[in-house]
Amino acid sequence: MSQTPPPPPSADTPQAKADKRAFPCPNCGADLRFDPGAEALKCTHCEAEVDVPHLDDEAAQEEHDLRSQIASGATLETVETPSLNCTTCGASVEFDSDEHSRLCPFCDSAIVADVTMQRNIVPQGLLPFKIQVKEAHELMHTWLLSRWFAPDGITEDSAKENFNGIYVPTWTYDAYTSTAYTGKRGDYRGSGKNRRIHWTRVSGTVSGSFDDVLVSGSQSVSVEFKDALAPWPLRDLETYQTEFLAGFRAENHTFGLEEGYNESQVFMRAKIRDWVRADIGGSKQIISSADTGFSKETFKHILLPVWITHYTLEGERYRMSVNGQTGKVYGQRPFSKKKLAVGALVGFISMVVVGGLISVSTGPNITPYLYQASDEGDWFKD
Ligand SMILES: [Zn+2]
Ligand SMILES: [Zn+2]
Repeated sequence: MSQTPPPPPSADTPQAKADKRAFPCPNCGADLRFDPGAEALKCTHCEAEVDVPHLDDEAAQEEHDLRSQIASGATLETVETPSLNCTTCGASVEFDSDEHSRLCPFCDSAIVADVTMQRNIVPQGLLPFKIQVKEAHELMHTWLLSRWFAPDGITEDSAKENFNGIYVPTWTYDAYTSTAYTGKRGDYRGSGKNRRIHWTRVSGTVSGSFDDVLVSGSQSVSVEFKDALAPWPLRDLETYQTEFLAGFRAENHTFGLEEGYNESQVFMRAKIRDWVRADIGGSKQIISSADTGFSKETFKHILLPVWITHYTLEGERYRMSVNGQTGKVYGQRPFSKKKLAVGALVGFISMVVVGGLISVSTGPNITPYLYQASDEGDWFKD
């Protein structure tokens, strides 16, 4: 009895394209992968290069009206992708059903769930990977060597670690704000023993604008996003094309448009309080009331490139990420509990001071304004 071999899987059917994002090499039929160095598709077998078709980049930069989107109740365009949900960290990541290793790229735990088709919002644009996996390894090596905690041998071990190239879903929000406030301004009078604070009632309005406040569309890397991997060169956004994703994984969003906007408003309101304090002036300020109106609110939905890996230190696994565009590195640090407490405090203070990094605030032309936490409690009363 003769056996007919099964037909080769066709990569040309639309179904295969949508599901697997397969791009067969025109030379040899092997898989093409997006090559960050060449900024083109490269064949995994014969090294043939195929350009990514250049699309109009205006679509990537287009701002969509937030209020009308929410009011219309219309859903954004979605596509189904085969995905795994990590029960440990909550990440939802694109996975092919034929992949053997099912380690969550975010938390490194084994995922036992089955691959299922999940609806995901089609992003309008993305920042393609510019950093190659080889560079990511070098950056990790340098980063580990620069850490005081790194024991001998850790960098050799780290060379074996596998990097995952992940596109992380991200919302960007713009808004104009106008804030009417009332409060008190404190000025010191006199000197030495006679130094007294004198309070005056004040009121006023500050206006400003926010451009591209970034909110991660998932919880898996949001902290790293806000504080450590920024800034992102959003001017270089490319219009979304699946070619850029060939060889990489996309994370699915778990945060919707409105949830993301609420998150961005928390950031905006904190900034606005700084503006109000600067507007009040004087040595101390008390904000009694602040009423903010938001207008011209717009959004974009984009993907940002992150290399993620884990390394082992004294039996524990730690995550390390690299900004796939700029090469900026962020690693989890295995501090002792006591050191962790100190580290958290330092982290908080630096966040207050450099918090503006993720948002380009074009708002009122006010000199950057720092808290003086050593003063009396008045400062935090509001
Ligand atoms: Zn080829
Ligand atoms: Zn996980």
